[in-house]
Amino acid sequence: MHELSLATSLLETAIAQAEQAQAEQVVGLTLRLGTWAGVDVEALRFAFSLVQAETIAASATLAIEPVPVQFCCLDCGAIATPPLAIACVCGSDRWQLQQGRELQLVSMEVV
Ligand SMILES: [Zn+2]
Repeated sequence: MHELSLATSLLETAIAQAEQAQAEQVVGLTLRLGTWAGVDVEALRFAFSLVQAETIAASATLAIEPVPVQFCCLDCGAIATPPLAIACVCGSDRWQLQQGRELQLVSMEVV
């Protein structure tokens, strides 16, 4: 269950930042999570609830902002979402994944 190791590293990052800011508690975390990040949101929430116990982030809420998958055409810059047509409107078939795989702590709230 790799959500557990993700939750652990997320928590460690948050606690390290909170300690650096001399905060007493972490009360909220906001995460950007790509649809293709390969993370099960419910499993991540559950894992986070396990690892946050008895830490300064014990009461922190976890907000998850989903990031939809988007591709960008390398030839004309058009943005497309799956399911992709084989060719772009410009005729190109060179797509590059632009977003949708991120797992990123974007903000946190401390007291
Ligand atoms: Zn194009």
